Amino acid sequence: MSEFDYDLFVIGGGSGGVRAARVAAMDAEAKVGLAEADRYGGTCVIRGCVPKKLMVFASEYAEVVEDASNYGWSLQHGPFDWENFRARMNTELDRLEGVYRSLLKNAGVTSYDARAVLKDAHTVELSTGETITAKHILVAAGGHPLRPDLPNADLGIVSDDIFHLEKLPRSILIVGGGYIACEFACILNGLGVEVTQYYRGAQVLRGFDEEARGLISEAMQSRGIDLHTGTDIVEMRCAEEEDLTGHRESDISMGATTHQLEALRNGGGDRDGPIWVKGSNGNSRVFDMVMFATGRAPNTGGMGLEEAGVRLGRKGEVVVDKYSQSSAPSVYAIGDVTDRVNLTPVAIREGMAFVETVFKGNPTPVDHDLIPSAIFTQPEFGTVGLSEEAAAEQEAIEVYCTSFRPMQTAFAGRQDRVMMKLIVSQETRRVLGCHIVAPNAGEMIQLAGIAVKMGATKEDFDRTCAVHPTMSEEIVTMRKPVRTG
Ligand code: NDP
Repeated sequence: MSEFDYDLFVIGGGSGGVRAARVAAMDAEAKVGLAEADRYGGTCVIRGCVPKKLMVFASEYAEVVEDASNYGWSLQHGPFDWENFRARMNTELDRLEGVYRSLLKNAGVTSYDARAVLKDAHTVELSTGETITAKHILVAAGGHPLRPDLPNADLGIVSDDIFHLEKLPRSILIVGGGYIACEFACILNGLGVEVTQYYRGAQVLRGFDEEARGLISEAMQSRGIDLHTGTDIVEMRCAEEEDLTGHRESDISMGATTHQLEALRNGGGDRDGPIWVKGSNGNSRVFDMVMFATGRAPNTGGMGLEEAGVRLGRKGEVVVDKYSQSSAPSVYAIGDVTDRVNLTPVAIREGMAFVETVFKGNPTPVDHDLIPSAIFTQPEFGTVGLSEEAAAEQEAIEVYCTSFRPMQTAFAGRQDRVMMKLIVSQETRRVLGCHIVAPNAGEMIQLAGIAVKMGATKEDFDRTCAVHPTMSEEIVTMRKPVRTG
């Protein structure tokens, strides 16, 4: 009989935590408990990837209807019904949460709807008052969106809030230039919201291939997003009567968000509705809503981690080794709470590697190399490996790149361009990076990612016959480098 209540206790019922709990229980026959303070499914299922992707789909229909007329259809689109869509989206999220709960139950994992705090490196205390001991504790508590340190920042929403809005704003200012800022700028623009975006840097999507960033930024602007680079928010407050001068009453919808209301109750203002914002460019403007997409931070506050001997890093992340083990040997951590590569499939792989290492006697370091990913902007961006800039710093490269108007949208009269790009090592001929900006680039990069991960050379790509007529055939038909160096 074990001296502990459980072999493994998992804190967090998101994708990573649930996978680790299930696999440890089913494949390694471990006795597993899991605590989740919020909804099962975590960021990805409840307030991230899944509802976001549903919103991406919703936002793309307006263009489809417009293009259909050039394909001979007589279609007319009416207004977008947010309440109808939100109800359907919530039903789907409820269904998925149910799936997560039953997956755990069927695997024999005991779940607790409670917040867990570490008492020591083998003990957690739940918000229900129970104390539980475990041989191993896995922290998979995820992260949360950050607001900038700015007076009245509570008047703005963050990505968690967007799925709960009572109604869509007529106008929104999105602050930030990363994944979430760019994706929601495109989504809301597609749903008919007037979108302004402030990004403090010179070009959105810092860290990605520059040519791809340039094309996405151009496409976002040509679709109507009012993007201001080199611009940040410096002041904000509830708009007053004089701020509204020049704005027709009908231009301002009064849909207050929970955060706005909270801020108002706490003295942050005396009315719901429009927000006055001053930009670092000196301009002041009134928006129905402000959304901060200014980064995320690990959920480690108030969890008793440091007291239990778990070292935290500068951003509050659990510092772990390549096996996801923290400085307290019985405590491991996976997913966003470790701030390594904050993507759902990575958290899942970290969870599987943890189970292999700890419960199957097969030490498995997590492989963070060559992870394909997609940013669901319009057009989408699929990417794997090094950007041209990063590769050129490392070694001599050849760059193969093509940009063109794809058949489907060109026929419909659109000017949209797509881009396919390969970065190739001159010495080994290996494809070091593949970057695709195109509709469904996320689907394409998943497949290209296999070849790149396998170490395919440019000549391997060349040997592969094109699939005609497709956009992606260009990835195997680029014969001459556009640049070398
Ligand atoms: P990012 O780190 O990608 O972007 C944060 C943005 O906010 C950056 O543009 C940053 O500017 C800016 N910023 C940060 N602090 C401030 C500030 N104080 N004032 C003004 N601007 C500020 O974070 P996200 O929240 O967009 O996404 C978090 C993570 O979630 C991503 O890194 C990704 O791993 C994951 N994610 C993945 C998605 C996908 O796979 N499709 C979708 C959504 C999220 P600067 O560039 O100057 O630092």
